[in-house]
Amino acid sequence: MRTEEVNGGPGRHNFLPEQYERTARSEINHNYLRQQFSDYKEVFKRLEVLLENGDFTLGRAVDEFERNFSALTGTKYAVGVGSGTDALLLSLKALGVDKGDEVITTPYTFFATVGAIVTAGAKPVFVDIGEDYNIDPKKIEAAITERTRVILPVHWAGLVADMDAIQTVATRHGLEIVEDACHAITATYRGRLAGSFGATGCFSMHPLKNLNVWGDGGVIVTNREDLHQRLVLLRNHGLINRDYCEVWAYNSRLDTLQAIVANHTMEKKLSNIGDSRIRNADYLDRALRGTTGVTIPGRPADQRHVYHLYVIRVERRDELLKFLVDRGIDAKIHYPVPMHLQPASRDFGYKAGDFPNAEKVCNTVISLPVHEYVRQEQLEYMAASVKAFFE
Ligand SMILES: *Cc1c(COP(=O)(O)O)cnc(C)c1O
Repeated sequence: MRTEEVNGGPGRHNFLPEQYERTARSEINHNYLRQQFSDYKEVFKRLEVLLENGDFTLGRAVDEFERNFSALTGTKYAVGVGSGTDALLLSLKALGVDKGDEVITTPYTFFATVGAIVTAGAKPVFVDIGEDYNIDPKKIEAAITERTRVILPVHWAGLVADMDAIQTVATRHGLEIVEDACHAITATYRGRLAGSFGATGCFSMHPLKNLNVWGDGGVIVTNREDLHQRLVLLRNHGLINRDYCEVWAYNSRLDTLQAIVANHTMEKKLSNIGDSRIRNADYLDRALRGTTGVTIPGRPADQRHVYHLYVIRVERRDELLKFLVDRGIDAKIHYPVPMHLQPASRDFGYKAGDFPNAEKVCNTVISLPVHEYVRQEQLEYMAASVKAFFE
């Protein structure tokens, strides 16, 4: 790939409409932000206070947000940061991860998980996934070396990884856990909330996540006082006060504006967002189960899956994708190429066949929209369309 292709060449723009074109044309859409933020006038009132106070970064609303968020996740501390990616990066740095260290993670994730490990200076070591799309705890031990520092599970699609088993391995080998909970806000595993298991739990508030703001935003939760203090330093230049720097660090503060939007969404809508996604997913599970060519993953009874994505596996995936798109359904592939086979992973020494489960999943998954603005007749139409394809 040439640089011009990568960067869009002369005359490129940051806004790339082609990327959104299919979504914009579809009748049943993955993107619902105009509807979700239709009450923006209420938020504007809260923003007037921001303009009067002038506390644009790390302002009063950020304190309020952090209190709300730690209560929501059942943790002692929350630290608002610039993005979900930064939440992961700062967590690794707060744990002392550096050059020469290894971090164990899944090859079936969004790029940010691996990007954070690499930009922290460490090497990602991949471990294959299980039937639930999450890292397979039984395979972690074989990947541990004397350089391993952290296990970084991703709660894919909104289903928490098998944290009891992961914690057992981590404890046995003296490793830390950082949870990538970007898909999993308010998901639970055996009664405990996503983000509360690891040394830290990392969340994104990107517009397409379940708790979303008007741009980028992220948050880290932890129960550990030492990590909390470290994270507060790392997100704000390492400053202990205006004049003294304790450690050379980053600028990754949560904007007060975004904290105001997040507070609004948490108060007014978050429980509805989760509940309607679960209801819609349950409907599709029931409607599609038993269809030849379709596999609905098992849903553990002791977990609350929050369906950031509704992901099923199908035969003839690429044909089905086209079929659904032609019928106005914004079906998507999250994601077609696993992390170990990305061009950026070329120096890590992996090859096709190394993680057969992840590779198979990347070739067979398809996601259907289940957000809170998908209507019952649209769910029925999606299920009927998938069935029609296979009949
Ligand atoms: C979105 C996402 C991130 C990164 O979050 P940003 O806020 O976009 O930086 C990290 N991990 C996973 C699994 C994600 O889906």
